[in-house]
Amino acid sequence: MQKAKREFFKKKLLKMRAAILDKAKKLKEDSYALGTDGIQDMADAASNAYNADILMSLSDNDLNLLKDIDSALDKLGGGTYGVCEECEEPITEKRLDANPVARYCINCQRVSEEKGT
Ligand SMILES: [Zn+2]
Repeated sequence: MQKAKREFFKKKLLKMRAAILDKAKKLKEDSYALGTDGIQDMADAASNAYNADILMSLSDNDLNLLKDIDSALDKLGGGTYGVCEECEEPITEKRLDANPVARYCINCQRVSEEKGT
């Protein structure tokens, strides 16, 4: 994959990541707004810290997505981004564009879905 493309996907992934963390912070702030011991914690929530406490507000789906994003970013750094984890063939850019955290090519994805995993 070309460097420009990698940069493109990196930006996309970082944006997705920021959106999830933002959502987590909002969820946390909302839950504190309903509570009684909010004042001190609101200050915490306002910081940009990425901590386990904030992540606890997220659904499993969002947490999984966050993990996928982190591993995709790892792969971008290691130069294996966009390679199918199953057959090691390149994943099409069209597919990555639609789903930047895709781990498998369309064929392997289909096979795994048919198996129900
Ligand atoms: Zn594959």
